[in-house]
Amino acid sequence: MSEIILEIKNVSKSYGGVIANQNISINVPKGKITGLIGPNGSGKSTLFGSVVGNHPINSGTIKYKGKEISHMRVGEIARLGLLRTFQQTRIYGEMDGVKNMLISRPIRHHNLMPSFHRPHKDDYEKANSLLDFVGLSSKKHLLAGSLSFGQQKLLEFAMALMNEPEMLLLDEPTAGINPTLINGLIDRLKAANEEFGVTLFVIEHNMRVIMNLAEEIHVLANGKLLSSGSPEEIQNDPRVIEAYLGGH
Ligand code: ADP
Ligand code: MG
Repeated sequence: MSEIILEIKNVSKSYGGVIANQNISINVPKGKITGLIGPNGSGKSTLFGSVVGNHPINSGTIKYKGKEISHMRVGEIARLGLLRTFQQTRIYGEMDGVKNMLISRPIRHHNLMPSFHRPHKDDYEKANSLLDFVGLSSKKHLLAGSLSFGQQKLLEFAMALMNEPEMLLLDEPTAGINPTLINGLIDRLKAANEEFGVTLFVIEHNMRVIMNLAEEIHVLANGKLLSSGSPEEIQNDPRVIEAYLGGH
């Protein structure tokens, strides 16, 4: 059994009358890639938001490296090395790739307001090496807004890595990307996990992608945890098949 880096236990979260997450318990092992799938509206993004401190939960506990974080705010949790990306890309279109990277310097190293904090030579080196890592070296001086959507996703991933996360939550990283470019992104996610040891927890809409990426997959449906297991177990679980096909 691997060490657990994130322990979500009996977590519930409502928005007014809508129960988005109900009594969810998931353990994420350190150093692995874990998947989170489920139909639209099943509560996946809400769970990520709860983990990284975007909103308070109604009940349950969330422990990161044994420490209760469910009462902490986003910045505090980020400084522990736990970060997320969003379903919508959040890059600065009017800045080039390098500038986008530099404004993503390690949150853990910020003592002052980010705007007062000048980049160091090391920051430039790290920005360049990560842009190279995601294959954007030749595009790094172009305005980020002029990059293709897939390239913007790669840049966003590099920006997240700039913070040296120990664990990264990725919300539908391949959404909207041309199928031919998806393989390249998957390859980089795997490389970040293997080469940098970043624990990944990935929401993914594309079944083929998550089966190929994750060692263990958790399935949400209607705000509840429906099933957990290996890709093979999930693929053959009649409850999962029903959740995906039942409504159509
Ligand atoms: P998923 O990411 O699996 O598509 P979400 O977590 O985004 O699901 O949404 C789960 C449920 O919570 C949905 O019914 C959605 O409409 C509702 N919801 C999500 N965010 C909010 C919000 N900020 N305010 C009110 N309801 C929300
Ligand atoms: Mg979502």
